Amino acid sequence: MNLTDTHCHLADPALRENLTHVLTAAREAGVGRFIVPATRPQDWQDVADLAERASENPLWGNIHIALGIHPWFSDDVSEPDFQRLEQALQVRSTAWVGEIGLDFYDKTQTPPQRERQIQVFSRQLAIAQTLRRRVIIHNLKTTADIAAAVKQTGFAQGGIVHAFSGSAEEARVLTKLDFKIGIGSLLLNPNARKIRETLKTLNDTDFVLETDSPFMLKKEINTPANIPGIAKIAAEIRGTCVEEIAKVTERNADALLGR
Ligand SMILES: [Zn+2]
Repeated sequence: MNLTDTHCHLADPALRENLTHVLTAAREAGVGRFIVPATRPQDWQDVADLAERASENPLWGNIHIALGIHPWFSDDVSEPDFQRLEQALQVRSTAWVGEIGLDFYDKTQTPPQRERQIQVFSRQLAIAQTLRRRVIIHNLKTTADIAAAVKQTGFAQGGIVHAFSGSAEEARVLTKLDFKIGIGSLLLNPNARKIRETLKTLNDTDFVLETDSPFMLKKEINTPANIPGIAKIAAEIRGTCVEEIAKVTERNADALLGR
């Protein structure tokens, strides 16, 4: 099987220090393509280095990167960071913009904090639109605000809304805006019911697979080798076989990566 992990933080110290092992295990599990997002300016270089090392190590598989500022770090950002982001993207013509987005999970956030997240997100959407790059979006309880920012900035390059946890209606809002839904490690939790219901309603063209490694698992470090397990559960939920899930999600990943 040929599978893609469309969201894995391979430059995170939990994985980076063991990378040859992590990527060998992934290859043996049939996972040979990876989209690796950054989270803040301090890790852009690490993520970019990873792509370069991968190009020298064919056994590592195919690594695509995204550079951006995660909503959790919105308060730390200032104007020069956006200029650096634009420059870093110009140097790397195939890099996407990510991981960017909104996270309103924490109910103690103040309105100015949320407004700041929206500003930082919108600014990066505008950069992605100017440079014609796809984006990777973190969306936690913010689908309506994500849609509003996309429309307001005129962003129309598509991408992935990762680790999706919302309803079927919310998924439809996003697929109409040309985003694929990132289906991932939430499926490994049998109590995560809403995403199972949502997954049943998606079209074959609507979703891709991801782990969000090294995160999402309570007791262990998540790795891309868990993609086939996620594909298998997705197949059960959708009443199909794992080969079919592999086929449609690879086709969707190919379309996003422009092949
Ligand atoms: Zn992530």
